[in-house]
Amino acid sequence: MHLLIDDVQLWDGTGSPARPKMSVEVRDGRIHWIGSASQWQGNRATVRVVDGRARTLIPGLMDCHVHYSSPGGPEWIARFTDPLPEISMRAIELAEASLRSGVTTARDVGAPQGVSIRLARTARTGEIRAPNIRAAGTWIAHRGTYVSFARQFGEADELRDAIRTEIEAGVDLIKVALAGWNEGARPKDAPDIPFDKKLLAVAVEEAHKAGFKIACHANDPTSCRIAAHAGVDSLEHGMFLEAADLAAMEKNKTYLVPTMSVWDAMLYYARAVDWPETRKKRAEDLRQGSRAAVAAAIKAGVRIALGTDAGGGAARHGRIAREAELMVECGMEPRDALIAATSSAASLIGEAERGTITEGKIADLVLLDANPLVNIGALRVIAAVFREGQRVA
Ligand SMILES: [Zn+2]
Repeated sequence: MHLLIDDVQLWDGTGSPARPKMSVEVRDGRIHWIGSASQWQGNRATVRVVDGRARTLIPGLMDCHVHYSSPGGPEWIARFTDPLPEISMRAIELAEASLRSGVTTARDVGAPQGVSIRLARTARTGEIRAPNIRAAGTWIAHRGTYVSFARQFGEADELRDAIRTEIEAGVDLIKVALAGWNEGARPKDAPDIPFDKKLLAVAVEEAHKAGFKIACHANDPTSCRIAAHAGVDSLEHGMFLEAADLAAMEKNKTYLVPTMSVWDAMLYYARAVDWPETRKKRAEDLRQGSRAAVAAAIKAGVRIALGTDAGGGAARHGRIAREAELMVECGMEPRDALIAATSSAASLIGEAERGTITEGKIADLVLLDANPLVNIGALRVIAAVFREGQRVA
């Protein structure tokens, strides 16, 4: 199908300023032509024209940290152990909600029983309305330290086996969890964690040897220190990252995926559902820790990619705009928050054909009614979403 998004303000995700009065022609799922609206030479009778006036076109958004196997909300952990058919069907709905909010690519970084792998495959066939999904399969964690539905190991050999098993199951990346679930983040003076530096080095080597990226859940000072120095591709959450950790991440080209939506949502539910005071206090501490880490990461020049952790905490799906707003609250320019959600995310995920609006690339596009470079909240008002050139919202 041919499509012309006509006379639009174009922000292409490359870091160049937005350009007014541009047109973008899409053919067979790819960006065929980009130029000044007045220069387009085609025949309007043969294309579907989308009115771009007073609107801004940006690349499709990428959420680098979701779990479609849980809906989030106040009981998110319990939802991971619902019956498998229920998890599977719900994952399809949640992926669609995500797509409708402008997420055309998502990294699903952990699901029970490999649900995310099957979801990613089904999305690829086009049978469901879902983002392009890159799935991590099941979390890998040291025995007894993480959720019971993670893939557990004790020794280095078992860890290597766990990674190979995940790869054989069809994952796109490896996800390891150094320490506990987010809400149960360990206190500062907790003893060392069993998934130590040596074991993480084994995991990084095993994943990279097989050509896979590795994402690492780290949410307390000890696990952040280990992960920052290990050469993982991304450090997820990263509350309590300190200057030396950030310097190591910058040197190792490790991305930070901050997932600030989780604390934001947790605080919301703490008040709305009337959680105990201790849980509220913990949510506040985690939020503060996360904000300080993101502000410091921005100053240290660490690569940042956007991730919400929708489903993996209280954050619900379909609210990617909130994460971008929180990034701006922590000191990012709206432009940089958008880069974190587009071209930077594409580099982390390894999506060379997505992430910017460039001739020849896949036509994953989001049309907004207002200008997110002025007010990042404009991401909430979606006019249209195109996935591989097809309008899906
Ligand atoms: Zn998560």
